[in-house]
Amino acid sequence: MTILIDDSPKTTQSNSQSPALELRGVTRKFGTSVAVDDVSFTLNTGTFLTMLGPSGSGKSTTLNMIAGFLEPSAGSILLRGRDIVGLAPNKRDIGMVFQNYSLFPHLSVARNVAFPLEVRGASRKEAMKKALEYLEIVDLKDRAKDKPRELSGGQQQRVALARSLVFGPDLLLMDEPLGALDRRLREEMQVSIKRITEQLGATVVFVTHDQEEALVMSDVIAIYNEGNIEQFGTSQSLYLNPASRFVAEFIGESN
Ligand code: ADP
Ligand code: MG
Repeated sequence: MTILIDDSPKTTQSNSQSPALELRGVTRKFGTSVAVDDVSFTLNTGTFLTMLGPSGSGKSTTLNMIAGFLEPSAGSILLRGRDIVGLAPNKRDIGMVFQNYSLFPHLSVARNVAFPLEVRGASRKEAMKKALEYLEIVDLKDRAKDKPRELSGGQQQRVALARSLVFGPDLLLMDEPLGALDRRLREEMQVSIKRITEQLGATVVFVTHDQEEALVMSDVIAIYNEGNIEQFGTSQSLYLNPASRFVAEFIGESN
């Protein structure tokens, strides 16, 4: 299949010359069916990539292989130049945000955010200090002592975002994180996620089936169709030069 090049204007501030993320010929089969079919792309540090495509097109399967919850049937996945296939998820320096937040209900908001640091060996005091810094970034410092259930859906999702970024991961993965929110909150969260990830210079792979959401948030978009990336490029280039009828129709579908 085609090799896809990240044509984002962002520059890299990584000390390594390797791209943040590179997929080479990544394939995943379930039995005889091919969920992800020979996908390759390169993503530079600080770039926001959205995987956009209809349900069942292979977006989550790709994300789960990057995260390490699923292994590829073939291909390699390089994080800052290092092949991470076979490495346990917690050894990958990747943060992840899910639709259902998965916060610990019995821990305070601050301790939820401190948790990944404590797991990595920080003292409680150090971890809490850093957690409060990140809560400030997501505008929730005043809710540090509350339990997650006392917060709104959008606020809980911001706590989840702080928790996934607090340990300085090489990559942030988000699988339809806003799917459970109503339209107004969704739009508000799109703006916060964009602001926060930009402020931290995070490299992001974001999944959605919502065309408008992809256009608002992304530096680059990968259009998925039946396990393949049909096109990879800036939103502008997808609009101006759709590579196929599928891309043109899918992008045009937003209202
Ligand atoms: P998307 O996230 O784009 O909606 P998925 O990556 O979840 O799509 O699914 C891609 C294809 O792989 C679908 O046909 C789905 O049914 C199949 N699939 C995903 N996970 C599994 C699994 N654990 N076992 C069998 N088939 C799966
Ligand atoms: Mg999915």
